[in-house]
Amino acid sequence: MFPNLGKDAGRFLVRDGESKWTAAEAREVAEQLLTESARLEEEIAAADLELSDFLRNSGEGAGDDQADYGSSALEREQELTLLNNTRDVLAQNKHALNRIGLGTFGTCENCEKAVGKARQQAFPRATLCVECKQRQERR
Ligand SMILES: [Zn+2]
Repeated sequence: MFPNLGKDAGRFLVRDGESKWTAAEAREVAEQLLTESARLEEEIAAADLELSDFLRNSGEGAGDDQADYGSSALEREQELTLLNNTRDVLAQNKHALNRIGLGTFGTCENCEKAVGKARQQAFPRATLCVECKQRQERR
């Protein structure tokens, strides 16, 4: 999947006092992201299938009383929100994998300093260093 990971990992930025990324550490994060992406894709596919079933059946639900219809619409809306979140997380995972492939993994997308290896290992999807993240949250 990442043929140059051994070479690229050494270029991932780290903070002062942190050791360089080893290929094994980078591979571990990449595998974690890949495994999670596969799981999320399955979740999304299952939800999509359920949703299209619902849409197909909703035309036949004319006999449902109003209360039933209301609660299933609400449930549907919650499921859609959840599904959108799942899609977001998947997109972030793919983005992180992209960053690994490009060798920009570990670089803050705002200030271009190191995200920090410890932070990046704990949050493989993180694209900002702690300072930029906090600044963003205060806005
Ligand atoms: Zn930053």
